[in-house]
This record gives sequence, structure tokens and C-alpha cells, in this order.
Amino acid sequence: MTHTRTQCVTLPATAHEAPIELPAIGQGTWYMGEGLAPHRDEVRALQQGLELGMTVIDTAEMYGDGGAEEVVGEALAGRRERAFLVSKVYPWNAGRQSAIDACERSLSRLGTDCLDLYLLHWPGNIPLEETLEAFERLREQGKIRRYGVSNFDVDELDALHALPGGGDCAVNQVLYHLGSRGIEHALRPLMQRLGMPLMAYCPLAQAGQLRNDLFDHPVVRELADGLGITPAQLLLAWVTRPVGGHRDVIAIPKAVQPTHVEENAAALTVRLDDEAVARLDDAFPAPARKVPLDIV
Ligand code: NDP
Repeated sequence: MTHTRTQCVTLPATAHEAPIELPAIGQGTWYMGEGLAPHRDEVRALQQGLELGMTVIDTAEMYGDGGAEEVVGEALAGRRERAFLVSKVYPWNAGRQSAIDACERSLSRLGTDCLDLYLLHWPGNIPLEETLEAFERLREQGKIRRYGVSNFDVDELDALHALPGGGDCAVNQVLYHLGSRGIEHALRPLMQRLGMPLMAYCPLAQAGQLRNDLFDHPVVRELADGLGITPAQLLLAWVTRPVGGHRDVIAIPKAVQPTHVEENAAALTVRLDDEAVARLDDAFPAPARKVPLDIV
């Protein structure tokens, strides 16, 4: 392992935006704004993460029924320009007019007049043409800078890419962690061919048994101990590792505890060497055939 400068991922230029470099680890907000942790702790955690360089903040109208967007809005008051702000629209709100209305509600909760990136949260029944049209109108109105999708598998991404405006889709946000590598078979290679970065959600496997299996796995423990890092940092360094010499994954761990925020930010400078990556490949092999996209 070597510690280097902050690892970055470049979002390519679109028809209207120049390329932008973003730190490879940002911050998630699912379960914020729901009263599970004190509101002020959540606000402080996002501000701490921002100070430490995790400037990509991911939220959604879904999280806490808008409560998470309010937490983010409070965290960014007076410092909006320092963040790259991402929110998401429910599939059933992604129509020609309903997406505009949903975005305006999000902007109001977030206390800003523009999102850096607006995502369709998952594929739904409203024709994608309508959603793309609405995204394009929001862009023309200066309410969003880029748009993208989430939870899109290979066929859905192919279909999207064939539509007018589909080529400007900036990212696909999908579940990806050491214990869930299904996307490596076909989806990630497709995204690499399209030059589309990936946002990895649940990079720490969230909670429950799977997470304990990962954090307490003997290979994870041994490697992390040997490198002087925590299992969480190992997982973040792994998920954001370059593939084919190209770094194209932005992980968005959610953390409220200050030590977690600090650890996650410090993982921005951790680089795993080939030997560590190979040991993790042996312990957690990628599937050899296409598996359905993992979704929370
Ligand atoms: P994560 O894998 O990020 O796990 C979050 C959990 O990990 C929290 O319990 C947090 O605890 C804990 N944690 C954070 N940092 C550390 C650390 N360094 N060591 C140990 N534990 C740690 O799961 P999420 O489901 O939150 O996924 C991340 C984000 O992805 C979401 O918040 C959301 O923004 C996005 N997402 C998108 C989805 C989509 O459909 N597009 C679906 C799911 C998530 P604590 O908070 O107490 O610090």
C-alpha cells in the first residue's frame, strides 16, 4: 500500500459542461433526516466530511421523505459552492412535468438553486424519453448541471444510450462492494466503453450479516492490519481501485460518527498494491457469468 495524493475520478465533458475532477470518495445520506441520529450530528458529519475533502454529497427525495435533503441543505448553508451535490428523483416522479416539479421541491429543501447532478433513482414505467426531456429542460433552466441514472443494468443502459440525450448520461449509481461484484462481468465493462463513471452505493455493505462477514473476514482483517488501516478503509480503497489503469468509481459511504467520517476521508489517499488486490480477488472472486444487478 502507498499513500498518495487524493484519488480522483473525472466526469467527462457533456454537450454543455466541461470535464470535472471529483474525489473518489464522497458522502451518502440514506437514513439521515429520519431521527435515527441527532439532526445536529448529521449536519456536522457532512460538514466534517466536506472539510476533509469528501465533496461529493449524495442524497434523494426518497431519503427520510425529503428529511435527508433538509439535513444536506443545512450542512451546505454558506458553503454550497464547495460541494458537488447529487440528488435523485423517484421513478414515478420522472415525467415530463413531474420531474421538474420534483426537482424544484428538492432544490427548495436543499436551499440551493442548482444541483450538480440529478439522477433517476431506478428504472420505472414512465418512458425514458420523457425523463430525458425533463432533465434537458431542467438543464436549460439552470436547475441541474448534469443528469444520470441509478440501478440501471446492461439492457437498460443500452436502451438509454440509444435515445436522444442518452449519450449525456453522466453516471450510473449502483450497488458495489467487495461482497457484491456482479457488475464486473458486463455492466462495468459497458460503462467503461461508454466512458461513464460509476457511483458505488453501499460500499461498506451497509449493515447486517453480510457486512460482518466482510469486516471480520480473515483476509480483510489480515490485509487491513498489515497495512495499518481499518477494514472499512480497505473496502473503500478496493472499491475505488483503478481497473485497466483507469479510475472510474466514486464511492459514497454514509457516516455520522466522526471517527467513521475521518476514516473514510483518510481512505482517499490509500492505494492498494497488486498483491493486495490479488489476495482479495482470491477471497472474493468476481462472478464468471452475468448475474442480476444487486439492488437494496
Ligand atoms: P454504506 O455501505 O455506506 O454503510 C453505511 C453504514 O456504515 C452506516 O451504518 C455507517 O455508520 C457505517 N460506517 C460508515 N463509515 C464507517 C467506517 N469507517 N467504519 C465502520 N462503519 C462505518 O451504506 P449506505 O446504504 O448508506 O450506502 C451509501 C450511500 O449510497 C447511501 O447513504 C445513499 O446516499 C446511497 N444509496 C443509493 C442507493 C440507490 O438506489 N441509488 C441505494 C442505497 C444507498 P454511522 O452512520 O453510524 O457512522
